[in-house]
Amino acid sequence: MKITMLIYAFVLAVFVGVLISVLICASQPVKAEVVAADHIPTVIEMNVSAYCKESCCCGKFADGITASGAVAEGFFVAAPPEYPFGTLMVVPGYADGLPVEVKDRGGSIKGNKLDLFFETHQEALNWGRQYLEVEVLEAK
Ligand SMILES: [Zn+2]
Repeated sequence: MKITMLIYAFVLAVFVGVLISVLICASQPVKAEVVAADHIPTVIEMNVSAYCKESCCCGKFADGITASGAVAEGFFVAAPPEYPFGTLMVVPGYADGLPVEVKDRGGSIKGNKLDLFFETHQEALNWGRQYLEVEVLEAK
């Protein structure tokens, strides 16, 4: 009889132990997801056109300086005002898929429109206009 009681006590202890560890394990991934959620990029379908710094694309603004004051060179994008300068975006097929900064604005760059900078007009023409899923990352 005593041995049976001990077995019951042992089984109960194991069961409680398993229950506690299951509860602890179950609670940890939830916490991890909450933390990770802050860093998950927002994916937005955008209408992505392209431009160069010459007057063909920039008209009277063709001074080689972007709206943020940065020199127009390398890879960057012109985005609507709701995306602050320095916001990072990943545009598939542009800059080898690396994040690029928002450095410029444009009169027609509103809503879901984005304009990619290219060094030459021909490259901008080659890009044309594409509807893409753009990842928006937090500003640096
Ligand atoms: Zn151009």
